[in-house]
Amino acid sequence: MQLSRYGSIAAAIFLFGCAPETTMSNSAPYKGPVIDMHLHAMAATAQGPPPLGVCFGDTAGPAHDPREPWGAGLISRSKAPPCAEPIWSAETDDALRDQSLAELERLNVVGVLSGPRERVAAWKALSPDRIISGHQLNIARGTYTPEEIAGYFDEGGFEVLAEVSNQYAGIAPDDERFDGFWRMAAEKDIPVGIHIGVGPPGAAYLFDGYRARLSNPLALEEILIRHPTLRVYVMHAGWPMRDEMKAMLYAHPQLYVDTGVLQMALTRAEYHNFLEDLTRAGFTERIMFGSDQMVWPGLIEAGINAINDAPFLTTEQKAAILHDNAARFLRLDER
Ligand SMILES: [Zn+2]
Repeated sequence: MQLSRYGSIAAAIFLFGCAPETTMSNSAPYKGPVIDMHLHAMAATAQGPPPLGVCFGDTAGPAHDPREPWGAGLISRSKAPPCAEPIWSAETDDALRDQSLAELERLNVVGVLSGPRERVAAWKALSPDRIISGHQLNIARGTYTPEEIAGYFDEGGFEVLAEVSNQYAGIAPDDERFDGFWRMAAEKDIPVGIHIGVGPPGAAYLFDGYRARLSNPLALEEILIRHPTLRVYVMHAGWPMRDEMKAMLYAHPQLYVDTGVLQMALTRAEYHNFLEDLTRAGFTERIMFGSDQMVWPGLIEAGINAINDAPFLTTEQKAAILHDNAARFLRLDER
């Protein structure tokens, strides 16, 4: 997902429902090291004034009376989340950083951390072995050029261009304004994670440009053909465009997806149904775990548990999703 430039109105997002129904997996949980492809280094206020409570969904969004602005309703709901045991956001920037890094350590996670350069560097300095540096990018914000981004990678230790969140500005993956960035990433062999799919519920009323129709992963197709060596992962797995996502995974064997935020944004039944659909279709080798931890450090463990609880996955498939696929995609053995 993406931090909001609207700060206080934006995204006290996932405040709905009660505890997810617990499902019993038929296989043993995966207990080994984890790779989280979708972490954020944000300010504690990035999703609204802390603390914000998160419930895990039995709904993907409540009914809304449009006499109240959608953003205001989200914030007030986050202050009194409708579940017995919400996960609360960290209250300060330092607490958010420290709690997030502590969770990575406790859960044996290495993660791709997306954010502004300075914040990512500060987190990595404290936990160098747990952080793979990602450079976030929304080309509608700021005046980045591909050459500037390339320079940051050359000098700054960045390894992944993620999260590319142009969707929030109404910019499709194949928009010509992004062509130079795709070319640069291909030439420099930089893996790219691009947001295609779910944002906060009602995202079009929180971000000027967000449109659901830009959630279509087919918009990546010409890019992949134009740059056949490019490594791309679809953040949020293109939910809910499952048939389009399957078409892309089938046609483009180098393409991967991550599961970012699906453990929180969707009902657990829908998340597992979507994951099972991709698994049953035979794409388990290219699904990578992502938590989309923003200001709630507890999301990392909740995301891991949601994979381990999936009743249709074998332990080997859990290992693939929670670790092995990302290690292959990132070529960690060549670092
Ligand atoms: Zn995203």
